[in-house]
Amino acid sequence: MAAARVMQAWRKRQISLATLLTGLVSISVLLMLTILLFASYQSKKQSLYETTLTLNLSTASNMSKTMDSLFKSMRSSLKNAAHFYSLNRPMLPEDSEKYLDLIRNSSNYFNSIAVVDETGMISMISPKSVGTAGKQVSTVATKKALELQKPFISEPYMSATTKRLIVFISEPIFDSDGVYRGFIGGTIYLQENNILNMIYGNEILHDNGSYFYVVGSDGKLIYHPDKNRIATDIHQLPIVHKLLQGKSGYELTVNIKGITQLAGYSYVPENQWGIAVLSPISIIKEQLNSHLMAILWYTLVPFILLMLVTIWFARRLAKPFVELADVVSSIGKETVPLPPERHHWNREADLLTKTLRLAMDGIKAQTDQLTQAAMTDPLTGLSNRRTMEDIMNRWTEEQKPYALLILDIDRFKLINDTFGHQEGDRVLRHLADIVKQSVNPGDVCSRYGGEEFVVLLPHAAVKEAFAMAERIRMTMEESDNHLGQRVTISLGLAHFPTQSVTAKALFLLADQALYKAKHQGRNQTVIAN
Ligand code: GH3
Ligand code: MG
Ligand code: MG
Repeated sequence: MAAARVMQAWRKRQISLATLLTGLVSISVLLMLTILLFASYQSKKQSLYETTLTLNLSTASNMSKTMDSLFKSMRSSLKNAAHFYSLNRPMLPEDSEKYLDLIRNSSNYFNSIAVVDETGMISMISPKSVGTAGKQVSTVATKKALELQKPFISEPYMSATTKRLIVFISEPIFDSDGVYRGFIGGTIYLQENNILNMIYGNEILHDNGSYFYVVGSDGKLIYHPDKNRIATDIHQLPIVHKLLQGKSGYELTVNIKGITQLAGYSYVPENQWGIAVLSPISIIKEQLNSHLMAILWYTLVPFILLMLVTIWFARRLAKPFVELADVVSSIGKETVPLPPERHHWNREADLLTKTLRLAMDGIKAQTDQLTQAAMTDPLTGLSNRRTMEDIMNRWTEEQKPYALLILDIDRFKLINDTFGHQEGDRVLRHLADIVKQSVNPGDVCSRYGGEEFVVLLPHAAVKEAFAMAERIRMTMEESDNHLGQRVTISLGLAHFPTQSVTAKALFLLADQALYKAKHQGRNQTVIAN
């Protein structure tokens, strides 16, 4: 039934109400879920970007503050040493050596410390193992420091004698007369254990891929997770460019390898270096994915439940309309259908059902009336010839035993002729009443035509049928009618299936018996033989 309906609707390119509602609900729930996920994805992305950027900036600026203080301390340590040297000149080589070792070991600021005189000769170096004591300074940085006679911080450079990447810091030494006497300088070996490693640790590459680097004032790397890249020039990178201008901040940037990074960067005033902390954008993608999965996990079950409930609700809403449509579509096929008498919680469904019920009730009453009219004889109210024949045929088909009586008013033509047709009709109605009152429930009385009547007596034997015939005949004979004149009837009787096996032949037999009754003097019942 339902499948046939779906097929029919499909052929006509129609969508059923239930499907429509279910589809609408499903689409809106799915759309809602998508919008929710999208909105949450976008806002989370934004907040993750901002959090990571500000976090990286705050890390960079903390590191920058640390480095600033560190370099101030390093410088003041050198300054104090320079002052000590100017006060204690000339100093014995053994004392000088002890003093340098003391400074170097007490602070761990420098990988090596050297005292250079005004001629550029390295008078003492700690540790001694560097092996340059007694030699002339050779690097550009040391020569520049000598020449400047001022506090100095070098760019990273490669030492020709020791083959080390070095940053060099120095303070000038003046004697009590204010005459320049050389400088005291400390080095940081960039690619070995140094003070920077001690402070920032060796783990400068975080598990999630975040890292930091330090860049010198010339744009060359001083500190980087990949030690091989130290001293390479990266001043062309936008954030390095900004660091060299003394700026701090955060932004999305692309590193040398072309990977987009969330960078926070901070300038170190004391040495004019820059520190950048970077996180690859992929860590945000990972977090976003797990965030989305979590949201999906939390929302999917309620959403599926919501969808099921709404689909169930939609089907319930559509049900009365589907029923009404079924009722309407079956009109004219069978007997007049009626929509089920039921109260619906939906106002429109309830109204429609009630209205349709009323209309169908009306149609049914009319149809019933027409059917009744088609089956009965208007004058007497008995069933008519066609109905009688239908019943006879059915009983014969069903092999249901029955007796058939044919009644005919004697000399009715005379009554008509004497009293008129209308009076004749009254006699017909009078006889009909008598027949109706005489028969048993289940017996069928009909006006066969003119002044002839037929009575069908189901399951009656010939004897019982004869008794019934005689009862009718005598009642009619003895009854008072409005004419005040005796009216009699003659009857023919036949029995199915004992006397005939077909309805037609049975009728003929009864008719012959009636004819015989007339012939024998009327007002009598004759049984067919
Ligand atoms: P018989 O005893 O042989 O039956 O005589 P009869 O006069 O009854 O015979 P017949 O069958 O020739 O006459 C039937 C008459 O019934 C003829 C007709 O005028 C009359 N008749 C038929 N139908 C009606 C009807 O509906 N109303 C009236 N008033 N008369 C009818
Ligand atoms: Mg007749
Ligand atoms: Mg007659």
